[in-house]
Amino acid sequence: MALRFFNTLTQELEVFHPQKDNTVRMYTCGPTVYNYVHIGNFRTFTFQDILRRWLRYRGYKLDHVMNVTDVDDKIIANAAKAQKSLADYTREFTKAFFEDAAALRLEKPEHVAPATEHIPEMVEAIQKLAAKNYTYTNDGSTYFRIGSFSQYGKLSHNDFAGIRSGARVDVDEYDKADARDFVLWKGRKGNEPFWTTPFGDGRPGWHIECSAMAMSYLGETLDIHAGGVDLIFPHHENEIAQSESITGKPFARFWLHSEHLHIESQKMSKSLGNFYTLRDLLEMGYQPEVIRYLLASVPYRKKLNFTFDGLKAAAKSIERLRDFELRAASAKLPPGRNEAVSERSAAAIRQFEEALDDDLNTAEALAAVFEYVRAINSALDEQQFQEENRWDAARVLEVFDGLFDVLKPGPSTAAAANGMPSDSEIASYIEERQQAKKSRDFARADQIRALLDSKGILLEDTKEGVRWKRK
Ligand code: AMP
Ligand code: ZN
Repeated sequence: MALRFFNTLTQELEVFHPQKDNTVRMYTCGPTVYNYVHIGNFRTFTFQDILRRWLRYRGYKLDHVMNVTDVDDKIIANAAKAQKSLADYTREFTKAFFEDAAALRLEKPEHVAPATEHIPEMVEAIQKLAAKNYTYTNDGSTYFRIGSFSQYGKLSHNDFAGIRSGARVDVDEYDKADARDFVLWKGRKGNEPFWTTPFGDGRPGWHIECSAMAMSYLGETLDIHAGGVDLIFPHHENEIAQSESITGKPFARFWLHSEHLHIESQKMSKSLGNFYTLRDLLEMGYQPEVIRYLLASVPYRKKLNFTFDGLKAAAKSIERLRDFELRAASAKLPPGRNEAVSERSAAAIRQFEEALDDDLNTAEALAAVFEYVRAINSALDEQQFQEENRWDAARVLEVFDGLFDVLKPGPSTAAAANGMPSDSEIASYIEERQQAKKSRDFARADQIRALLDSKGILLEDTKEGVRWKRK
């Protein structure tokens, strides 16, 4: 079966191919850098990472642009409160965002586009709209006339015919009941930062940055545009209105939207104050890969309810997979290859692929991996798993981890701080100890056991080889 995504625009599951040269031109709305982003935001960015990695697994190249919103109402207010310039204020939170993203192992898009570095592109886009009579000015600000774009509402599937009255909104975020002509360029106010343009001093509204930057990096029609569901209206609806009014062409072929992360049945958001940042969770001692696993484990179009039990379950799942990895790699095995085990491994990969091709169904993909682990653990118990089957298991885990990326322990917080060795360091100590025993250097073997013991690692010699546990 081919790779399919649910397209918000058509409300259908559609087979995906990029338009040309095997390259996916993709634009995702990035963070607004007015504070540390919370793990709800990171659910959306983790979905985008999974999307990237799966597209690549399916043989496509990526040309992905993510914007950084570094000028808007909230940022200006916060920077003023902190008595910092806009640039100084946003630099700090942009840096923090990319540090957090790296801790969560999110790949960096090919282009990261800060809004304030693309003001000329926005000015040009507004001028094109003005030349085609899609805009009007009022009190120094320039607005987009939604009544002039007949398809307004096609993404959010709303009929806005009744409210195209010429009334305006100046705020960047508003709800469906408030659909009005939206602001493209806000006239200069008080001490706020401003740029000088042919249509007056001021600063951009939020929506124009994404249209202008997406088209300047990727061309008039994108393959994929993605973001959280809260962006469907008004943000993405407005992006379509602006872009398609300029070009007369479809702005994006596929629109993918991820559902929210909830906490106690409410959307996690800064305005509700019910949020955790990644830093909060790391300080509590959770490892970044555990958080990544939890965020990736629920298919992106389902709500994800955040709980600490969920995090603990994620940690257990990773531990199971790491135990399995070590067992399959280091157990003492009979020589040869069991064909049935090889076939079972190929089937696991097929199931994993089918699940992800089906609109990135990560839950089904994980189920396939855990069923496989159960089956192979039994095969190991029954001596059915043979020396050359190690490669089969390693391949399954490689495919899994190419996407989920949780098996290799990171420079983990609490453990690293205590000087605890990482899993791979432990594995190499164990290997060294085995070699020492083989060459009858028992003193060195004992020394390694004692060294690991002093770091809280218990070794257990079983008939299948060496197992270890943290004390
Ligand atoms: P913002 O920094 O507010 O512009 O949001 C960045 C991204 O996070 C956007 O794609 C939002 O749709 C998304 N987002 C905001 N809140 C949540 C949440 N609770 N769960 C998942 N995604 C969210
Ligand atoms: Zn955007």
